[in-house]
Amino acid sequence: VAYPIQKAAAAMYTPSGQAQIRELTDSYLKNARIIRSTLEEYGSKIAEVPRSGKKDIDLAVQAAHKAATRWAKTSASQRSEILFKIADRMQKNLEKLAIVETWDNGKAIRETLAADIPLAIDHFRYFGSVIRAEAGEISDIDADTVSMEVHEPLGIVGQIIPWNFPILMLTWKMAPALAAGNCTIIKTAEQTPISALILFELIGDLIPPGVANIVTGFGPEAGKPLAQHPDIKKVAFTGETTTGRLIMQYASENIIPVTLELGGKSPNVFLESVMDKDDAFLDKAVEGLVLFAFNQGEVCTCPSRALIQENIYDKFMERCLTRISAITMDDPLDSDTMMGAQASNDQYEKILNYIDIGKQEGAEVLIGGEKYANSLYPQGYYIKPTVFKGHNKMRIFQEEIFGPVLSVTTFKDQDEALKIANDTTYGLGSGVWTRDIHQMQLLSRGIEAGRVWCNCYHAYPAHASFGGYKKSVDFLQEQSIQENTKKGIMIATLFK
Ligand code: NAD
Repeated sequence: VAYPIQKAAAAMYTPSGQAQIRELTDSYLKNARIIRSTLEEYGSKIAEVPRSGKKDIDLAVQAAHKAATRWAKTSASQRSEILFKIADRMQKNLEKLAIVETWDNGKAIRETLAADIPLAIDHFRYFGSVIRAEAGEISDIDADTVSMEVHEPLGIVGQIIPWNFPILMLTWKMAPALAAGNCTIIKTAEQTPISALILFELIGDLIPPGVANIVTGFGPEAGKPLAQHPDIKKVAFTGETTTGRLIMQYASENIIPVTLELGGKSPNVFLESVMDKDDAFLDKAVEGLVLFAFNQGEVCTCPSRALIQENIYDKFMERCLTRISAITMDDPLDSDTMMGAQASNDQYEKILNYIDIGKQEGAEVLIGGEKYANSLYPQGYYIKPTVFKGHNKMRIFQEEIFGPVLSVTTFKDQDEALKIANDTTYGLGSGVWTRDIHQMQLLSRGIEAGRVWCNCYHAYPAHASFGGYKKSVDFLQEQSIQENTKKGIMIATLFK
């Protein structure tokens, strides 16, 4: 059975589209033969991967070095063709990739199938397309003199990715870098190296040797020598803010550019006007919050703070809690599972610790607040969707938990909402839910975040830039041709 990927991609960006995707995924999963977990024991080993270090990074750089000049000289249309072939190969293997992603990370198959892998495929297609339109610029300086600007590849770029979207994060970095004519070395996260290796195995024959390289291993052992390597011309990093700071230090040793995509504590503001006569809009707003806060909560932009206008709080929260109680948790490969397991033991412990902190701080647990015993693996890393009510100064409102923990507070009016939303060191994602277009405009301009979704959430079209404010990242964003090229400028006087 073929998953209707184009239909799903078209529907991905609106709450009603999300409902359509769920229907498509449901009917697909009903007919598909998904390989269930066959592990007898909790904690079984599923694969072994190299623990790489500096010598492996050196080998990868040597391989890239050999390939770089020839690859940089390929035409945009040649590179575009390769990127399209990669996308086609991935599409043919969608189910396989979705399954390994679920095995590797623990997130539910319905998510990897309907969102992670289709979005990853779309990024190869998008950058395969834009590179053909990406030309330099010729402009007149005066009647005799022209300026010609060309975009040139940087050379070898180092790309370090986190564990929460192993294939998608890899694609976000790899597709624009290759499209621009760079060679790439990707360092996977130590927790989730497998799906990226399987992807490379799948597409390896489509890319000339040395152009795309992958290294597995730990951050200080493999990531650090990559970021410090004198032959690397740029480092692209996604991960925690504290690690981002180190990456900047390493890159400064060779004075090379860095792009950073860091942490978040995304506020979602729900205003009075979400209430409508038949509650249809209210239900969409509740669905938007619940769906995106509780897909394990391991998304940098997931709505981790909900700000609800005082006068609608009771009704809003009642609906919310009813909806949260219906979230199903089980084997991530089960088509009925809505929320899978946390990605690692460290992450699991960290989230449980934050739940304790919330309780100690005096926040009220509205639902959840404890681990969950999955029927298949009672000791698996499952945590019940948790909602705390408290105030914005609490640690659970200020620090990134990166789990299924939503911190909720109330506000009186728009000004207070804005103040609370911006009272954070992060500025990555945010949401505004209102039927009032003026409020939408005011809040979306006022919230200090790289992306503000209004009456929808987690739309990630490949063509929309994705940046951040404050400690989430203040500058350059990775998914663009611009950030993967340097500009060569010729100014010439033409003697007549
Ligand atoms: P992390 O910073 O611990 O690790 C990310 C990567 O950096 C891993 O590959 C790791 O091995 C490597 N690393 C760690 N220490 C290093 C060092 N000293 N030198 C070089 N490399 C090193 O982050 P994580 O826990 O894997 O990921 C979760 C974080 O990622 C969260 O903060 C989340 O918000 C963020 N994130 C951000 C975005 C975004 O687009 N802004 C997207 C996804 C995740």
